[in-house]
Amino acid sequence: MIKSLVFDFDGTIADSLQVVIEIYNSIIAPAYNIRPIQRNEEEIFRATDPRSLLRANKISIFRLPMMVLRAHKEIGKKISDIKPITNITEILNTLRKSSLTLGVCTSNSRKNVLAFLEEHKMLDLFDFIYSGKHLFGKDKLIHKLLKEHKLNKDETLFVGDEIRDVEAGHKAGLKVIAVTWGYNTRDALKLAGPDFVAESPEEIIGFAT
Ligand SMILES: [Mg+2]
Repeated sequence: MIKSLVFDFDGTIADSLQVVIEIYNSIIAPAYNIRPIQRNEEEIFRATDPRSLLRANKISIFRLPMMVLRAHKEIGKKISDIKPITNITEILNTLRKSSLTLGVCTSNSRKNVLAFLEEHKMLDLFDFIYSGKHLFGKDKLIHKLLKEHKLNKDETLFVGDEIRDVEAGHKAGLKVIAVTWGYNTRDALKLAGPDFVAESPEEIIGFAT
């Protein structure tokens, strides 16, 4: 029986892809002398796993933390431009009413997530928010939150929009719902082998109850 759901933030709850691409192109790419993302490349990016993207764009894993930190700061300035995914608030409310524990596990900053949830009156929907600045360390963060909130692996689902989320959730021993409305495409997500695929927020309810 599922008792708790842990959600990724960007692309899963927050419709932030366009804002993030904008920030990447106008600030991050020029600052680090990397190629901006062209309009017609967005779908290619969505179909590609993040490690290949880093390699293809010659982004060193060592430079990544600085870039991520800078991106968080810039996202913070644009937080009011980011809207919730259509219907996600209603679905979270429904899940909440069926007494599930709901949490957020993100590689965005806690400050940005709190500002967003507050702006959209979604703060009360969640029991906890975990954030870590490492793009590839989410499995450790999941381990930590399971332990601190005494959640059972078999009773917890991870919900995310990226290949990274499927990998991290599995590495932490959770079943994963991959959602197709975010940063990675349905086909790319399916290759990562999620336990469930949700094409719309409504479908989460069926997997969780
Ligand atoms: Mg995401």
